[in-house]
Amino acid sequence: MSRSLQQLSELRQQIDRIDLDLLRLANSRGSLALEIQQLKHERGLPAYAPERESQILEQLMTANAGPLSDDAVEDIFHRLFQHSRFSLKPSNSMATEYQGESKVVSIGSIEIGNGQAVFMGGPCAVESEEQVEQTAQWLSQLGVSILRGGAFKPRTSPHSFQGLGRDGLDMLVRAARRYGLATVSEIMDPRDLDYFIERVDILQIGARNMQNTPLLREVGRSGKPILLKRGFMSTIEELLLAAEYILLEGNPQIVVCERGIRTFETLTRNTLDLACVALVKRLRAFPVIVDLSHSLGRTDIMLPIARAALACGCDGLMIEVHPNPAKARSDGQQTLSFSEMADLISGLQPLLEFLKREKSPSVWNLAEESFA
Ligand code: PEP
Ligand code: MN
Repeated sequence: MSRSLQQLSELRQQIDRIDLDLLRLANSRGSLALEIQQLKHERGLPAYAPERESQILEQLMTANAGPLSDDAVEDIFHRLFQHSRFSLKPSNSMATEYQGESKVVSIGSIEIGNGQAVFMGGPCAVESEEQVEQTAQWLSQLGVSILRGGAFKPRTSPHSFQGLGRDGLDMLVRAARRYGLATVSEIMDPRDLDYFIERVDILQIGARNMQNTPLLREVGRSGKPILLKRGFMSTIEELLLAAEYILLEGNPQIVVCERGIRTFETLTRNTLDLACVALVKRLRAFPVIVDLSHSLGRTDIMLPIARAALACGCDGLMIEVHPNPAKARSDGQQTLSFSEMADLISGLQPLLEFLKREKSPSVWNLAEESFA
């Protein structure tokens, strides 16, 4: 063998030894990550801690003497973090233990994440006093606990109905209070924050704003419960990182909402990702709501999909409901009429009984009312 071939072979042997060392070290790191995961699980702490990951990366960048670039180091470690987070299996499987153990977000007497099934219903957009009034009255009789309704609508076209703004928000809250319901409504502009804080129980961050980080920080500082909807082009990890922006402002009151992601499918508006629900529950990171209306874009398959969502552990369902869906100013095709909503809820009852899950109570504690 020539000298250079021998050298090549020696260098390759060194690489092989280093690879084995790296493998051993990566696995030792994995075992430690598992131990940490187990400890967090026992203490009821969230499995997911991106701020810790940022700290580690910072330390590594400072220590990096090359020839690997900082970007390469970040990429390698990012993958290690990902594998610690998602692929390690604790001996005591968290997947089978989540029910009743996830984080709980409280809104008065309503608890999201305590094992009960919470129903959120209402029109896509608040259109009139009568519309939300009738809807609130009907939903309160069906055991729905949270009235939804957009007053500020994120519409694709600037020529479409944009919502009634602050007046619409007032209508929603008046109707909800009259029938003992809590409220959720989308905030798009931080300049409306004070108005929302004083009136609305849960601030919704819409899919289009999931990565609007200044808005996430603002609602984080508000301390109000947040319904964070998954962006339709966002990964589960990006959803969790968006939630982290809110968390890092000191607000743990976060409920995430799976509302379908964009795929090549056209017969449904989006593709509902139930793996997201199961995975967020497995990580015990946040309570999860499934928005059936925006996921499906149609009403005819809502019952079986609602059953699947509840069976895989979601904490509640969001459904668009309108006194007359055919006349709705937005999203009528995915909106249930009052009687269809009644049928949906009664159709879920046998499954809820089988799962030993109750519907969340609909009566809001009026003593805590803040809206005059
Ligand atoms: C909504 O819930 O009113 C809405 C606009 O949904 P999304 O942000 O999920 O599209
Ligand atoms: Mn809608």
